[in-house]
Amino acid sequence: MTGDRKFFVGGNWKMNGTKAEIAVIAKFMKTGPLSPNTEVVVGCPQCYLGYSREHLPANVGVAAQNCYKAAKGAFTGEVSPGMIKDLGCEWVILGHSERRNVFGESDQLISEKIGFALSEGLKVIPCFGEQLAERESGRTKEVVFAQLSAMKPNITDWSKVVLAYEPVWAIGTGLTASPAQAQEVHAQLRQWLRDNVSEEVANSTRIIYGGSVTAGTCKELASQPDIDGFLVGGASLKPEFVAIINAQQ
Ligand code: PEP
Repeated sequence: MTGDRKFFVGGNWKMNGTKAEIAVIAKFMKTGPLSPNTEVVVGCPQCYLGYSREHLPANVGVAAQNCYKAAKGAFTGEVSPGMIKDLGCEWVILGHSERRNVFGESDQLISEKIGFALSEGLKVIPCFGEQLAERESGRTKEVVFAQLSAMKPNITDWSKVVLAYEPVWAIGTGLTASPAQAQEVHAQLRQWLRDNVSEEVANSTRIIYGGSVTAGTCKELASQPDIDGFLVGGASLKPEFVAIINAQQ
């Protein structure tokens, strides 16, 4: 990465973890050492947000993995941004590919959730990326631009947003995008921000890469000029997460 953007590494535990397992993760995160030049946030299952906030080091942010677009009411099974904040957490991951593809969340719903979460004072990690068939048919740029365009009307404050580009074919598959493949899309995304939002937002917004990042692949990816960090699934449950946090050193 280049410029003034602070390197950002998010973890996404998905639907994993027990209190005992979270205590182990908290221990290796405390031991670190974690680079002070990296902003670190971990996405925990909703039921463990409070427990994770209490046990993780104070310099590690805690994110919910989803939230709804209303403050309260008859929405069985949902969690509001206010509830997340009430547990001492400041972040939410929205639009993860599993929310889109397993639970059928649309671009429109994700956009509305982003808008509501921001209006309630949460910081947001919106996720998006192309499917394998879309990449293979040369449609990656068209797909990710459409996903960003759907979010844009509801992004009222870009300083509270970290964009996570996650090619669906690379998530949980062990198939990491090559540094050149990831850099190409990140540069296109930054240009999209320049053309559709502003030069300032293009220069200051962190665009992180997700998709099977490991301690072995993180350093070369981190050296690309438009890759400002990572969203890490499987490896964020393991001690190698510390090496990924320190990838930029
Ligand atoms: C993710 O869950 O966002 C992710 C990138 O998972 P993994 O690192 O396991 O591919």
